[in-house]
Amino acid sequence: MKLRFLSALAGGALLLVTGACQSTDSAKNDDAPVVSAADQRFNTFKEAFIERLWRLNPDWAAYQGYHKYDAALVINDSAWRAGARAQYARELDRLGGFAPDSLSANNQTDHRMLADFLRGAEWNLDSLRAWEWDPSSYNLGDPIGMLLNGRHAPLNKRLSSLSDKLSKASAYYEAATRNLRHPSVEHAKLAILQNEGTLALLPQVLDSVKKSTLTEFQQERLRQQVETTRAVIGGYVASLKTTLGNKADPQAHPYRLGSALYARKFHHDLASAYSPEQLYDRAVAHKEELLTDMAKISTELWPKYCPNEPKPADRQQLIRRVIDKLTLNHTTPDSFVVAVRQQIPRLVQFVNDKNLLTQDPSKPLVVRETPLYMRGGGAGASVSAPGPYDKDADTYYNVSPITKADYSPEAAESYLREYNRYTLQILNIHEAIPGHYTQLVYANRSPSLVKAIFGNGSMVEGWAVYTERMMLENGYGATAAGRSPELWLLYYKWNLRTTLNTILDISVHTKNMSEKDALALLMNDGFQERSEAQGKWRRVQLSQVQLCSYFDGYAQIMELRDELKTAQGKAFDLRTFHEQFLSYGSAPVRYIRELMLAHTAPAVARREK
Ligand code: ZN
Ligand code: ZN
Repeated sequence: MKLRFLSALAGGALLLVTGACQSTDSAKNDDAPVVSAADQRFNTFKEAFIERLWRLNPDWAAYQGYHKYDAALVINDSAWRAGARAQYARELDRLGGFAPDSLSANNQTDHRMLADFLRGAEWNLDSLRAWEWDPSSYNLGDPIGMLLNGRHAPLNKRLSSLSDKLSKASAYYEAATRNLRHPSVEHAKLAILQNEGTLALLPQVLDSVKKSTLTEFQQERLRQQVETTRAVIGGYVASLKTTLGNKADPQAHPYRLGSALYARKFHHDLASAYSPEQLYDRAVAHKEELLTDMAKISTELWPKYCPNEPKPADRQQLIRRVIDKLTLNHTTPDSFVVAVRQQIPRLVQFVNDKNLLTQDPSKPLVVRETPLYMRGGGAGASVSAPGPYDKDADTYYNVSPITKADYSPEAAESYLREYNRYTLQILNIHEAIPGHYTQLVYANRSPSLVKAIFGNGSMVEGWAVYTERMMLENGYGATAAGRSPELWLLYYKWNLRTTLNTILDISVHTKNMSEKDALALLMNDGFQERSEAQGKWRRVQLSQVQLCSYFDGYAQIMELRDELKTAQGKAFDLRTFHEQFLSYGSAPVRYIRELMLAHTAPAVARREK
């Protein structure tokens, strides 16, 4: 199967690059010892920019590990919004004072990413206006949880920040109530659920107060603040329940964004080379290619797995029957974490043997059981990377053990079948090596606070999705007899999921797709279990665009690789491609592409009609 994205370049002009530059020398790179005056000036600006940003958004700062403004709480009223608007406009003016051409490659992409962020932030405030229709944007749960469980400061200090925050809880929820007009029913339900979760957190505050060594006066003040906060959140939840109840407000804001707003959000959030329509068409074509290939493999495997049964004539049934046999090959609850731990060194070895990219042996990935306070989010595996303000901390690959306490025997079996022996390998490639973890190690080499904070979702997810395919293309999982059809079939199913995420998101938000059609798409075309499909339906109602990032980044990276292969011919080297691609940090693929093409053939790039 080959992806063909021939007419993808935005603007219609086709940039042809001939005569690849072969020396590996001169990537304009940021460990260069000499920093130009323009770069110095820009670096100073970036630092001040981020400090001003954190003062405006203290919760976001804390989430990134910057705790200077922990005691502040933003009251989202018209005065705050006017101030934010003015600050963003001033920052755009300041950015305009830098000529991007005078900056290093790292700073050029930072410059563009900051401008993108500011325009997106203005658009969010003035056009998307979620503060008017999304009640779940008001919730004190995260800031309270972070101050309770954070390890960044001693308990007394965290509690006194919490006290300052809670002193504004009434004003916070009053502003919320004033802002909301005919909120979205789906987001109101989420807001009720999440704010009830915050109510359940309040007794823990009282426990912590007891454990602290605050003065009696301070303790009493906190107890009263917790009481007030409980009443205020209770009132907010009750008003959401009564105004919305079971029958929807006829004027309620729709959860579907509609084509016009969706296209703008897509642009601001992804900075993609594609429009939603272009990405949709690619996803639909890719889905058909995947199903065609899956049918071919299923036909090949049928005699091996279903020797005495008649082969179904229906394509989807055929594929499903074979997948159902393959997923029986799974590990046991007790050895799940061990199975993951054993795979990591094999992935490292394979990447080295095949010369796919250079790895840093001084930074081995530590596999651990997911700490208790992080469990329950549903994700069985994730990478815990240190934040931008805590770079020296370890990076962990968290794998949740399958315990009797968390899983009934049926649930454990279902989970193990989902992460069967084949799919588990794809998951490890995606999350760890050479997926998210490897990308992160590269990103940290040319450190940019801007990219750590505003990292492009399509680039980050697209890289992880790209590596799944790239590893298999290079023979991962193959035996002496050739490629493993089993691994490829389950890889295709996995890749189909990201492809359908894109089709689903665009269809629901711009094409009015019904719940019934959405579930049919995921379950029939995508071979998903009903519970997974229903979870995805909830997610697509509550978020917009993010579900496209995986396929969007993957498609752009595959296209860039094809483009460079064509341009460089025999000189194309996969390892060089990977290392150069990763060297720019988590910038949008579109920006990386421009830098790579400029570097590939600085003198001979020419534009053609
Ligand atoms: Zn089983
Ligand atoms: Zn991912």
